[in-house]
Parts: sequence; C-alpha cells; structure tokens
Amino acid sequence: MTAFCAALRDTRLPPLALIELAAAVVGSVYREVADAHCGDQPCPCGWHPRLPEDLEALQTALALSATPTLQPDLASMVVLGRA
Ligand SMILES: [Zn+2]
Repeated sequence: MTAFCAALRDTRLPPLALIELAAAVVGSVYREVADAHCGDQPCPCGWHPRLPEDLEALQTALALSATPTLQPDLASMVVLGRA
C-alpha cells in the first residue's frame, strides 16, 4: 500500500488505472514464465502452462482478493454460554 500510495501521489493517475497497470505487470510476468516453460529447452521443473486454465486461476484469485469479506454483526449473533 505504501508503494501504491506513493505511485498515486507521484503519477496522479486514478486508482483503477494504477491497478490495471499492476494487473498488466502480473500478466507480463506470467507470459515470461510461461515462455520459459515452452520451446526447445524448457525449464525442467515440470510445469506446463495452460493459458485458459491459468487465466481462470488468476481471475479467481483476483476476484477472491478483491471481494469484501462479510463482517459479522454482533447484534445478530447467537449467544453461546454465559460468562
Ligand atoms: Zn519451471
């Protein structure tokens, strides 16, 4: 967040524009890693990129991270035990 806020201040770009740039960086890193696992001398680790499945996994991770978590409402909770 510190780097993000500094970039907001320094560039004066709207927050979503910076987030889109960050997403583009992640996509670019994926492309480079995937390319390193293809071709004549691929990385020997055994991973093979599958673009549709990999994009779905990345989109799911993004959606899970971006979705607000529900905060429990103390007034509606069931009381368990007595203190
Ligand atoms: Zn590898």
